[in-house]
Amino acid sequence: MQTYTLIAPAKINLLLEIIGDRPDGFHELVMVMQSVDLADIIDLKALPNDQIQLHCNHPDVPLDASNLAHRAAVLMQKHFPDRGGVEIIIQKNIPIGAGLAGGSTDAAAVLVGLDLMWNLGLTQSELQELGATLGSDIPFCVLGGTALAMGRGEDLTPLPNLDQLYAVLAKYRSLSVSTPWAYKTYRQQFGETYAQTPEAQEQRRREGPSVPLLTAVNHKDTAQIPQYLYNDLERVVLPQHPKVSALRKKFKQVGCLGTMMSGSGPTVFALTKTQAEAEALKTQLQAVMGDPDLELWVTQFCGSGIQLESA
Ligand code: ATP
Repeated sequence: MQTYTLIAPAKINLLLEIIGDRPDGFHELVMVMQSVDLADIIDLKALPNDQIQLHCNHPDVPLDASNLAHRAAVLMQKHFPDRGGVEIIIQKNIPIGAGLAGGSTDAAAVLVGLDLMWNLGLTQSELQELGATLGSDIPFCVLGGTALAMGRGEDLTPLPNLDQLYAVLAKYRSLSVSTPWAYKTYRQQFGETYAQTPEAQEQRRREGPSVPLLTAVNHKDTAQIPQYLYNDLERVVLPQHPKVSALRKKFKQVGCLGTMMSGSGPTVFALTKTQAEAEALKTQLQAVMGDPDLELWVTQFCGSGIQLESA
């Protein structure tokens, strides 16, 4: 029986700006999202009946119906009944609770994989719409590459490919941050500064930190892009986690084009122009931090989302 093997890349946020509240209770956001080549590998195999079986090599990933990959399979069965069941095998390479959209990219892989397995012929935007019902980052994980994400994160505009940049990712193994906690705390601390009306939100978008970053991205100006990295959630996560703040400072001291926390953290990334510079930065950081709890990865920006392994 055929196995579909999918590559499910992590994402980093080159920018995450919180604009205000939305009527649906979520935050209105402006984000610039970037896929990197640190990826989970997802195998899908057809099963009889409507069974969904889930396996993962990482002990901290839930194997029940709460797993986002499982939820994606349930969603596909609901929309496309009588197609059968699926065995999902996740090889987890993306750290968990890291701000790298690990769960979201697994779910995106299941959507893309079942579309292929069941021969559904769904369009990219149909897959993104299905993904948006499960989680705000899933549409981007389906699309991948570099993209502007607005609304909850589901309103996507593709941006030029930046695959000439590298990112060293750094995360303390023992540290994770809950995304709902980060947004809730941000609202508690900064809710009074939110743009309240649609007009005020539009004005904030037009005048915000995304403007110079988007200009740099649209010009593929790899010298300028690292100057305009931005993440509002650093304002709540860094004070709570001084180790992450120290890591970010250390990246700056050691030397990189620019550094920022990704999403709700606690992963910090630092940008370089070449793989050799990224490898050197990783080695230097490992040496100066001298902490076995700190994990580092050299990654390259990538121009696509979920891919079949053979593609
Ligand atoms: P995001 O950047 O989208 O906020 P994250 O990288 O911070 O996500 P995840 O790695 O997706 O966080 O994990 C968050 C929580 O989701 C975990 O604590 C885990 O229990 C749960 N989870 C559900 N499905 C998965 C999955 N397939 N892989 C990893 N975690 C999952």
